[in-house]
This record gives sequence, structure tokens and C-alpha cells, in this order.
Amino acid sequence: MVEKNGVVLVLSGPSGAGKSSLINRIADDIGDYYFSISTTTREIRDGEVDGVHYHFVDKEEFEQDIKDDYFLEYATVHGNHYGTSIKPVKEALSKGKLVIFDIDVQGNTAINNRLGDITTSVFITPPSLSELRRRLVSRSTDSDEVIDKRLKMAKREIQRTSEYDFLIINDDLDVAAEVLKQIAITARLKIPTDRINSFVQKWENI
Ligand code: GDP
Ligand code: ADP
Ligand code: 5GP
Repeated sequence: MVEKNGVVLVLSGPSGAGKSSLINRIADDIGDYYFSISTTTREIRDGEVDGVHYHFVDKEEFEQDIKDDYFLEYATVHGNHYGTSIKPVKEALSKGKLVIFDIDVQGNTAINNRLGDITTSVFITPPSLSELRRRLVSRSTDSDEVIDKRLKMAKREIQRTSEYDFLIINDDLDVAAEVLKQIAITARLKIPTDRINSFVQKWENI
């Protein structure tokens, strides 16, 4: 599907676990990367910029994008649609970049099916459900009703931690950021299956 010179880092975890905060912390220390900007039908939050945090679209546009085969994967999360567009990801991979996805557990399954041999996945959790609630309330981007929905979802998402290569419990932000930085650096060393095969073949022919 793509020329695979680059590698993929998937980050998932409950809403409010600290994915965005952690990415911002490590951004300057992990070399050349591309952060995949998803398309979503969710309402834009205060402080979010269209085209920076997400491409915000309505349901009709999203459905048209599905028909046009625009997405590498898409899913419905907390009642909103989210999707990863193929084109910029392909471009970034062909340039050998580390491509970072902040996607939900369904997205991780899809990416692993399509790009598993170049993917490293990390599940990020808060230290407790009560701390998660506190963070979502103090972030003040979501209504009480939305927060309740996200907390309920958190319990279900955490059940799928075993599908990931690494787990980071985001208690102390500095410690969690240092661990994520090391994982991101190591993710670049992942060797795709075709390169391993040609390496082995070369040795067979000596
Ligand atoms: P946050 O979790 O509070 O940052 O809230 P968001 O609205 O930014 O994200 C909601 C959920 O959708 C999270 O679980 C994201 O990881 C997930 N998500 C965001 N973009 C994508 C995407 O392109 N594909 C998939 N599958 N999930 C996404
Ligand atoms: P996500 O992107 O996973 O939804 P955010 O990065 O938006 O999560 O973090 C949710 C809220 O929790 C933000 O207000 C953020 O400042 C705060 N936060 C993140 N990590 C920590 C931490 N280790 N300790 C305390 N607060 C945190
Ligand atoms: P939020 O609405 O809080 O920004 O995101 C809610 C959830 O949607 C998060 O868990 C986030 O990782 C996930 N999400 C965001 N974009 C995508 C996407 O393109 N695909 C999938 N599958 N999930 C996404």
C-alpha cells in the first residue's frame, strides 16, 4: 500500500489520559516526525484550530470522504466520526518519517492490520479513574455529559491494553514523557518484514 521507509507510532488511551500533552512535551526531542491530523465530525473546542488539531467537517463531508476512499482507517468514537487520511501518511512514510497517530483502539487494530510490521503502539492511561475525571474537569473543554460518556468509555478502552506493545501510566508528566521519548526513538529502529527477508536472503546466497 505504501513505500515503507518510515515507521509508525500509535498512541491510544482514554480521553484525558494525556496523549496530546505528552506529544507536545517530546515533539522537539524525537527527530523528524509527522503528526497525523485526523478528520472529525466532533465540535471544535475552544483553543483548537481547524487544520492543526483536526480537520473539522460535517457528517455529509465525512461520508463523502469514506466513499472517495480517502481514509486509511475510520471509526466512531464517543458518538463522533474520526478518520485518518491516507495521502499525507503515505507521503510522510515515503520520506522516512516517524508518523504519529493519536487514534482510538479500533484505529490501532486497523493500522496494525495494514502497517503492522512498521508499527509500534503505546497505550496511555491515567493513574486512576478519579484522576481522569479531575483532569477532564480541569481541562474544561467538555460538558459534564460528554465527560461522563468519556469516563464510561475509558473503562472499556482500558480492557484492550494488551493489544499494545507498551503501556505508559501517565502519573508524573515528566517521567511519562521521558518514557514515551525513548519508545519513539526506538520505534525508528523497527525493521519491516521485506527488509528482513532480503537481508536473510543475502546471507543465504553468500
Ligand atoms: P481526546 O481523547 O480528549 O484528545 O479527544 P479527541 O476528540 O481528540 O479524540 C477522541 C478519540 O478519537 C480518541 O480516542 C482519539 O484517539 C480518537 N481519534 C482521533 N483521531 C482518530 C483517527 O483518525 N482515527 C481513529 N480511529 N481514532 C481517532
Ligand atoms: P488527551 O489528549 O489524552 O485527551 P490531554 O493531553 O488533553 O489528554 O490531557 C488532559 C488534561 O490533563 C489536560 O488538562 C492536561 O493538562 C492534564 N494532564 C495531562 N497529563 C497530566 C499529568 N501527568 N498530571 C496532571 N495533569 C495532566
Ligand atoms: P477527542 O474528541 O477527545 O479529541 O478524541 C476522542 C478520541 O478519538 C480519542 O481517543 C482519539 O484518540 C480518537 N481519535 C481521534 N482521531 C481519530 C482517528 O482519526 N481515528 C480513530 N480511530 N480515532 C481517533
